[in-house]
Amino acid sequence: MTLTRSLFTGLALLSSALLGIAHANDDSPGLTMMGTTPSVPKNIVIMIGDGMGPAYTSAYRYYKNNPDTEEIEQTVFDRLLVGSASTYPAKISGYVTDSAAAATALATGIKSYNGAVSVDIHKRPITTIMEQAKKRGLATGIAVTSQINHATPAAFLTHNESRRNYDEIAKSLLNTDTDVMLGGGKRYFPAKLIQQFEAKGYQYLSDFSQLETASSPKVIGLFADVQLPWAINERGAHKLSKMTSKALELLSKNQDGFVLLVEGSLIDWAGHNNDIVTAMAEMDEFANAIEVVEQYARQHNDTLMLVTADHNTGGLSIGAEGEYIWKTDIINGVSTSPDVIATRALKYDDWQTKVSDALGFKLSQNEETQLSLARMQGVEVMTTAIKNLIDTRSFTGWTTGGHTGVDVQIFASGPASTLFSGFQDNTDIANKLMSLLPKEAKVVNQVKQSSTIDKRVEVNDIEVNEPVVDTPTLNN
Ligand SMILES: [Zn+2]
Repeated sequence: MTLTRSLFTGLALLSSALLGIAHANDDSPGLTMMGTTPSVPKNIVIMIGDGMGPAYTSAYRYYKNNPDTEEIEQTVFDRLLVGSASTYPAKISGYVTDSAAAATALATGIKSYNGAVSVDIHKRPITTIMEQAKKRGLATGIAVTSQINHATPAAFLTHNESRRNYDEIAKSLLNTDTDVMLGGGKRYFPAKLIQQFEAKGYQYLSDFSQLETASSPKVIGLFADVQLPWAINERGAHKLSKMTSKALELLSKNQDGFVLLVEGSLIDWAGHNNDIVTAMAEMDEFANAIEVVEQYARQHNDTLMLVTADHNTGGLSIGAEGEYIWKTDIINGVSTSPDVIATRALKYDDWQTKVSDALGFKLSQNEETQLSLARMQGVEVMTTAIKNLIDTRSFTGWTTGGHTGVDVQIFASGPASTLFSGFQDNTDIANKLMSLLPKEAKVVNQVKQSSTIDKRVEVNDIEVNEPVVDTPTLNN
């Protein structure tokens, strides 16, 4: 561990030297305006597209392509690609990870079992990058589209033997001293718990409209009962982008820097549903949030941005049924999520027109017959039938309703971003990021931090049992 750490520190210094040379010759206006990019970041923004395997970023390129031009335009992902990472969990859970084990690896540099929230295979809490950042005087925050106590943010902030202990995880966030928490999850935060947050100096935001004017350095914002609405059903709302922007603004108040986690959580949920139109809209909002961070980094060149996925979901395939075709016009033409189209179809007698209008194409006789049969079996069967229709028309394929074990990509920019070039393991990402944190704890923060740790241990009074391995039916 120590050897690995010092190796990464060495790499960081080497890459800093290389970066210095590279930037001396770089005449991009952003850099010259701000001076030379520092070798080590003051701020780190980690962005996770949950379930965003390589097929998603390729699909997104074609989905966004302007068909009226000769070339295929690059996306933000194409521009920022630097490397790839393996995602397998601890041996006990095989080769295919869930979001909790993957987030544990990314937050702590240690692999654990599927379902683990920053505990090792013996269920002992492992220090996260957010805890290390706090110890060194940095501010920390999260902005996610799932509930804030969901697997990924939970593994960065706290510890639990199971991701499914939502209430325990919500309570434990109280003692993490996290500065900014934005996302969904009202259901898990009863009034009494919110009062405890307020007693600790947090400003509570219960409605998205309050976000813009929020100014307290400590904020907890819960904008949905569980997860936020699908981006496709709130076009132009840009909630993840706005939460990201506000988190950057509030965390910037800390003179010593910050670590922010941003998650496009629902890419994974749409992948589990094998829902291509919803998945692409979630990708679009995540891409938009990346651009918000890029914009921030242009003005603050001491900010490292690292984007990756925790794993791949759904086994998405661009092309299906033996045909060399993927029709993005079909996907782009759908105006709302399939579940909303199905719900409407059940409500109206002239459902054929409603469905046709929402899908953006006229139903064939055969398609109408299939949907008519599905409609009689209720909203769930109808939703599936509509998704199947979109997949058939667009030649989109899926291999599973769960996760797959393919490697994920890494995208990065800013100080020390070259550290992440080429192939690595997901635990290497965490170890490299942690090697970039300041070395010395500030005296002022030592007292504050020791009390935080005491409380954390007390909250996570975890029994040591045999690790429970989650079943493959586990969602997300
Ligand atoms: Zn998932």
